[in-house]
Amino acid sequence: MNDRLRQLQEKLAAEDIDALLVTQPANRRYLSGFDGTSGVLLVGREKAFLVTDFRYLEQAEKQAPHCKLCPWKDDLPKSLAPLVEAERWQKIGFEEKHLTCAAYRELAAGISTELVGRDGLVEDLRLIKSESELAILRRGAACLDRAFEHICKFIRPGLTEQAVSLELEYRLRCLGAEGISFRYIVASGERGAMPHGVASPKTLSAGELVTMDFGAVFDGYNTDMTRTVALGEPDARQRQIYETVRAAQQKALLGIKPGMTGKEADALAREPIKEAGFGEYFGHGLGHGVGLDYHEQPVLSPRSETILAPGMVVTVEPGIYIPGWGGVRIEEMVLITAQGAEMLTLSTRELAVI
Ligand code: ZN
Ligand code: ZN
Repeated sequence: MNDRLRQLQEKLAAEDIDALLVTQPANRRYLSGFDGTSGVLLVGREKAFLVTDFRYLEQAEKQAPHCKLCPWKDDLPKSLAPLVEAERWQKIGFEEKHLTCAAYRELAAGISTELVGRDGLVEDLRLIKSESELAILRRGAACLDRAFEHICKFIRPGLTEQAVSLELEYRLRCLGAEGISFRYIVASGERGAMPHGVASPKTLSAGELVTMDFGAVFDGYNTDMTRTVALGEPDARQRQIYETVRAAQQKALLGIKPGMTGKEADALAREPIKEAGFGEYFGHGLGHGVGLDYHEQPVLSPRSETILAPGMVVTVEPGIYIPGWGGVRIEEMVLITAQGAEMLTLSTRELAVI
């Protein structure tokens, strides 16, 4: 058994289940090492089974040495029933948020074991990153810095947002990324008011602010960073709003520390934005965890009670979005340490004037 499987197995007794059916892809990968696109993992208190189809058996054998491989048979109940019966499991937990209604019905009708919802068991393990995970995230974050440095030389009025997005992606792929973490946001001028304004055919113009939110996958791990740049000398309002966001982010970066809740971390940046009169224009949480999923636990938001601890990797991304005017967001990836936070993305947070 590997350490991750063992940690999960230790939790099963307390959860009063004989096994956990893992269907969330990142959870499955985290526990087993298998990164194919199809398969389920069934983790009992002593054994772990990986069920996948013919296409992936050879890959799974290499990637998941701690799991017993079982070939997929027709459907989920037919694939799992022989295992469940052989192991005499009476009660199996499943990930409620990651099993379709149809699959649940099929399973409930096709196996005799009791099924109970148990969410978040693997996500809790994934909260704290190991040294090997941190090494990947650091390398990925350094690539984002390099891509940003490049895009500052590339971006200019007359290009479309899509051309900027493609260039960021191309540069990151050249740096070794497996793919993009999400559709890139390149939101210029008034489009900047849309926090998730994905790159459009709109052409960039002089005098606009441009928000670029990008990230790429390295060894299965996601990365995430945002910068807002000015095309030409910014006017007073653009400068004021940028500096408000920057100061709020700075306050959060300096103040965030273990022991604090996600809500308290969020307030570090939210308060100064409110005091500057822009509270209603910061409508999303301060940040989120990053790892095998690009949005994962813990969440930094006004509703998050999660207690921050060393080894967590989160984004710190305050923003101000004003309909009809535009927007500003600045986003770092940071590692929570025993003392506070260590930045993984290191590009300047001063407004880049291009
Ligand atoms: Zn982002
Ligand atoms: Zn983000």
